[in-house]
Amino acid sequence: MAYSLKYIKIKTRCLQCGKEILYGRVDRKFCCEACKNSYHNRRRYPMREDMEGAVLRRIDLNHAILERLYKMDIHTIDLLTLSHLGFDPHFVTNFRRVGRHDIFAIFDLQYEMTPTRIKKLEMITKR
Ligand SMILES: [Zn+2]
Repeated sequence: MAYSLKYIKIKTRCLQCGKEILYGRVDRKFCCEACKNSYHNRRRYPMREDMEGAVLRRIDLNHAILERLYKMDIHTIDLLTLSHLGFDPHFVTNFRRVGRHDIFAIFDLQYEMTPTRIKKLEMITKR
């Protein structure tokens, strides 16, 4: 093949996100630094993205359960019943201790947890 590469219009795509690389060297493999890092992290820790997905799904499920209870005007429920509904108290998005009270939150829903139940389930009001 005697054709010089510079006469052939080559669309190079980012190995991570698949977007066309519009500038830079011909042999560039990534559209940006973030994609380059993601790509190499994924190769280094192949399980990582699967785990992130699994954690997010658990959090989403927890939130859906609490939201259903909240909409039914239920603000106190024992942990055994909650676990039967599929709730896993390990997956939350926020925790703080106020005095002797353990306050948890999953996105916009917050509750206090005791050894046997959750109570004061409420929507966090936006300021
Ligand atoms: Zn990219």
